[in-house]
Amino acid sequence: MLETLSAEIIAIGSELLAPDRSDTNSLWLTEKLNGIGIEVKLKTIVGDDDARLEEAIKDATRRSKVVITTGGLGPTEDDITRKVTARALGRRLLLDEKILAELRERFRSFGQVMPERNSRQAMVIDKAEVLPNPNGSAPGMFIEHEGVAIVLLPGPPREMRPMFENHVQSRLAGKAGGLKVIRRILRVAGLGESAVDEKIAPIYTQYENPQTTILFNQSEIEVHLTARGRTEVEAEALLDHLSEKLEERLGNAVFSFAGEKMEEVVGLKLTVGGYTLSIAESCTGGLIAQRVTDVPGSSKYFIEGVVAYCNDAKTRTLGVEPVLLLEHGAVSAPVAEAMAEGIRKRARTDFGLSITGIAGPGGGTDEKPVGLVYIALADDAHTEHRRFIIPGDRQLVRWRASQAALDMLRRRLI
Ligand code: ATP
Ligand code: MG
Repeated sequence: MLETLSAEIIAIGSELLAPDRSDTNSLWLTEKLNGIGIEVKLKTIVGDDDARLEEAIKDATRRSKVVITTGGLGPTEDDITRKVTARALGRRLLLDEKILAELRERFRSFGQVMPERNSRQAMVIDKAEVLPNPNGSAPGMFIEHEGVAIVLLPGPPREMRPMFENHVQSRLAGKAGGLKVIRRILRVAGLGESAVDEKIAPIYTQYENPQTTILFNQSEIEVHLTARGRTEVEAEALLDHLSEKLEERLGNAVFSFAGEKMEEVVGLKLTVGGYTLSIAESCTGGLIAQRVTDVPGSSKYFIEGVVAYCNDAKTRTLGVEPVLLLEHGAVSAPVAEAMAEGIRKRARTDFGLSITGIAGPGGGTDEKPVGLVYIALADDAHTEHRRFIIPGDRQLVRWRASQAALDMLRRRLI
């Protein structure tokens, strides 16, 4: 029950196979289609190649009830979508005099004469409905073919988007029978992918709707839930029901329920509590402060950030006793705690957060390997620290370290 209509998208253009352009049209279309209860099951990118495109269109119309192509509707030799789609469907291409007249008029309004090659944009697939394009020269097409809806849209997003919204969306929504598809993302910190799956698989595998996918993303695990319902309210209720059960299993490890970033979650908690924050960083070089200040309104709670990279700076700016550095080394629990207390005192904030570690690739020893990070958090009552060994290259160690630091603060604020 609640079977969704399945769609596929074909992005056409050799430039999309090269590293310089990416296919963003299909991302945008997927979201729009989901919103009207249509599920995208497959996307294809095809270069400007007649044979490959013909195959792709034939395959697509065999498998899916909705096929949307973007690109290749222009006037140039490599714009083959019209011609090849007609061939794949076994239909003729006919010259549409009305479109031709409109094209000529469009050029005239710019004070130009229409180049002859543009007349191919007036060729329409037999029995296709023409979709007007007020933002460009290439009209789109809507074709019903053996129970499949085939929609040809132009490539430029500023032409494709309004054409879809004004001429395609409501028609496809009608075919979909008004089913709604809604997504929710839970973000998890401090647990690995398999640990997350072990905890929640026994629950989510019992549900076919919502559908659950677990994704690994830099330093976070994301649990994606997709629900289908006859109404948005029904789909939301299904999401609420399952996500509540998952949250029960994952506890505080879930930090975000609506796609918020860690720094936004922390910022909100600081704002609500009326707390202030200062940060002393070594190995992350200011990354934590940057993430915190990426959030609009962070001036309400963020007071000061210091990058104290060498030992002298830790002493001079944060008041870390030289003897601590000498006895324990810069990457150690006592130094991390002294940094947190030092910045908190200096900036007169409720919380002082600090980080010191070895981001690599060099500088590791057996005793202190690359990825070793100490994070400390000081408030007026006490100072605590945590020790991590973080895998990854320099970039990733730094990012994950910043995440662990923000997560430590988040957990304190719960
Ligand atoms: P035009 O009349 O502008 O030639 P067209 O329908 O032939 O329109 P293309 O030539 O395939 O479209 O693409 C024109 C431009 O549109 C590309 O250079 C690219 O910038 C953008 N574009 C095409 N396809 C996509 C896509 N799938 N995602 C994002 N942008 C795209
Ligand atoms: Mg083109």
